[in-house]
Amino acid sequence: MSRIVHVNGTYVPEEEARVSVFDRGFLMADGVYEVTSVLGGKLVDFPGHLARLRRSLAELDMASPATDDDLLAIHRELVARNGITDGMVYLQVTRGAPPDRDFAYPNPPVPPTLVLFTQSKPGLADSPMAKTGMTVVSIPDQRWARRDIKTVQLLYPSMGKMMAKAQGADDAWMVEDGVVTEGTSNNAYIVKGNAIITRDLGPHILSGITRAAVLRFARESQMQVEERPFTIEEALTADEAFVTSATTFVMPVVRLDGQPIGAGRPGPVAARLREIYLEESRKAAV
Ligand code: PLP
Repeated sequence: MSRIVHVNGTYVPEEEARVSVFDRGFLMADGVYEVTSVLGGKLVDFPGHLARLRRSLAELDMASPATDDDLLAIHRELVARNGITDGMVYLQVTRGAPPDRDFAYPNPPVPPTLVLFTQSKPGLADSPMAKTGMTVVSIPDQRWARRDIKTVQLLYPSMGKMMAKAQGADDAWMVEDGVVTEGTSNNAYIVKGNAIITRDLGPHILSGITRAAVLRFARESQMQVEERPFTIEEALTADEAFVTSATTFVMPVVRLDGQPIGAGRPGPVAARLREIYLEESRKAAV
């Protein structure tokens, strides 16, 4: 049975889904996206993803394709129609398809393009990597300067992932002005004693929805949270490291640039935060 996707108000089999060659998402990466995890058939952190989508659209003067209620209904309909128990829903909004390619935004504006699809990932929360930990390498951060907007310009993060693979690692941590910004598709953390250290928010990183929840749970569990820059050297002397994202939740990092972090095994803080995050987000899922 083929997957049912959503395109501009209609539900169609993926083979029949169509977007114009003039779509500005395709021609100019003029689009934003969100990825929401599905656990037990329910949407994780959905209000957070919706709020960040609204912010991304506003920062780019892009029209909204649907109301919050409609977007929730579309997510739920796709989860149901595709029988997703564990997995994710991808949503993309672009500035639409004007009659001709032009750098200027279309005037008058054309309707935004809205696309959503699901990916099934049975056992998403039981990833074997959570037990072994992942390895990362450092690379220069060569992305544009508005990483707080979740745009579909993902070429450099894709290149970063390939640079990591070429070195036999799972992912890359990006470094700018001597300090770590974030992972290619996740926020980066180190743990020192009782302190969890992660880059402060600003245009240089994406404000992760998982980050916000994990930092809240850490504070509630009396852990100390330091939102500040850290270097690769500091990370190499940390007790633990981990990353967070909607689809990996809290994932331990055990090696950086070929050297072990702490004991070179997933640490207790990352394990505990993963457990709390999964428990709380399952409870709050919609
Ligand atoms: N940072 C970047 C660059 C990302 O691409 C992502 C997720 O795709 C994140 C951080 C984590 O954000 P979230 O927790 O909202 O998935």
